[in-house]
Amino acid sequence: MSNKSIVYWAPPNEISAISYDKEKMLSNNLVKTRLILDKILDHINSGDKVGVKLHFGEAHNTRYLRHDYIREVVEAIKSKGGIPTLIETQGLGMYIQQINISENYSVFLGHRKTKADHEKIAHLHGFSESIIGAPIKFIDGEKGIESKIIKIDGIHFKEVHVAAGLFEYDKIVVASHFKGHPQAAFGGALKQLGVGCITKHHKYALHFIGDLSINTEICNISKCSQECIEACPVGAIKIENESAVIDNSLCVYCTACLESCPVRKAINRTFNTNESEFNIMAEKVIDNATAVINSFGPENIRFINFAFDIPLMCDCVVNANMPIIPDLGIFGSKDPVAIDKACVDAEINAPGLPILNEDGQWTEPLSIGIEKINAMSNYLDTSWQIDAAIKNGLGSKEYELVKI
Ligand code: SF4
Ligand code: SF4
Repeated sequence: MSNKSIVYWAPPNEISAISYDKEKMLSNNLVKTRLILDKILDHINSGDKVGVKLHFGEAHNTRYLRHDYIREVVEAIKSKGGIPTLIETQGLGMYIQQINISENYSVFLGHRKTKADHEKIAHLHGFSESIIGAPIKFIDGEKGIESKIIKIDGIHFKEVHVAAGLFEYDKIVVASHFKGHPQAAFGGALKQLGVGCITKHHKYALHFIGDLSINTEICNISKCSQECIEACPVGAIKIENESAVIDNSLCVYCTACLESCPVRKAINRTFNTNESEFNIMAEKVIDNATAVINSFGPENIRFINFAFDIPLMCDCVVNANMPIIPDLGIFGSKDPVAIDKACVDAEINAPGLPILNEDGQWTEPLSIGIEKINAMSNYLDTSWQIDAAIKNGLGSKEYELVKI
C-alpha cells in the first residue's frame, strides 16, 4: 500500500462552457469545487457543527478568494447534514488607519483588527449570511484575545495561544486561497491554521521579537492623554514616575497601545524584518499550526485550496499586485502538507505570467520548471513551511495527485 497522501485536483476551467448541457458544466469552476468537496468531506456526520476557516480579504485588496467558492463549501457541508459557520480571527492592532489620498478622498485600512470592523469588510466582500447561507463567528472574540493555551514541542514555541472559539466546533473545513506571502513565502492550508486560528498574542510573536517596552526617555505624559492606558484591553499599563510602564505578565500583545500613542517612538517593539530570518517566521507559523492540529485532531480537519488569482502578496495587503502565474485549479486533501506541496509543485510546473515592473515595462515571463515565488522575491523559499511541517509531523510531502 502507498504511503502517499491523496490530493484531489480539479484543473481550472479550460474550455468555454457556452452551452448548458451537463458535460459542459463539468468544466465550471464552482461545479469542480463541489466535486472536490464530495471527495474530502467524509469526516462530517449529520448534526456536526462545522467551522469553515477562511480569510475575508483586507479592505482594498482585490485578489482575495471570491465568496462564490465559499458558498459552494457551505452548500456541500449542508448536504452532508453539517451545520456550517464561517470562522475567522482578528489581525494585530485595534484601530483603522486613515490615509489621505487627496483633499476630498481618504482610504481606510486595517479593517480586520476588531470584530465590528472585520464584520463590515466581510460583508463588503460578499461574506454575509444572506449570501453565503452561514453565519460568521470570530473565534478569538471581540478583540482577538480570547485564547486557549496549547502546549507543543515545536521548533520555536512550547505553547501557543489558539483561538478559544475553535473548540466549539466538531469539524473544520479549511478553505484557502493559495498565493504568495512576503515573509512566509506562500499562504495556503498550513498558514490558515498557523496564523488564521491563533490570537493576537502569537500573531505578535510571529512578526516581532521580544516584548513591547516603554521608552522612558520619549514617553511624555504632558504630550498625551495617556491613550495607551485607555486602549489596553487588559489593564497592563500604568503610570510610574511620570512614564508609562507595561506589565508584560498581563500583556496580550495586541499592539493597541502602540497604535494609540500620539508620541512617536514612545513604545518600542522589534520587527522581525530581517530577510535572512524569514525562515524563522515560517517555522513559527508551522509551530502554531501544530498546536491547532494536535489540539483539534487531524481526523477532524479537511483542506481545500483555491489556486486562482495568484500574486506574490497575500490577501492581507492592500496592494495585491498582478498574478505571477495562471490559475492552477482547486485542490482537496486530508493532509495540509501534501495539499500545499501540490500547489507549490503546480506553481513550478506552470509558465510564469508577464508583469508590469515599476518602470512600466512588461517583464519576461519565467519558464516552466522555475520556482517563481522564490525567483521573483530573491529571499523567500517555499520549502521553509513544508520542511518545518514535516519536522513537526503534520503530514507528508509525498502525494498522489488524483485528477477530478
Ligand atoms: S506611551 Fe504614549 S500614550 Fe502612553 S503615556 Fe507614554 S506618551 Fe502617553
Ligand atoms: S500593553 Fe499589551 S495588552 Fe496592553 S495594549 Fe499594549 S500590547 Fe495590548
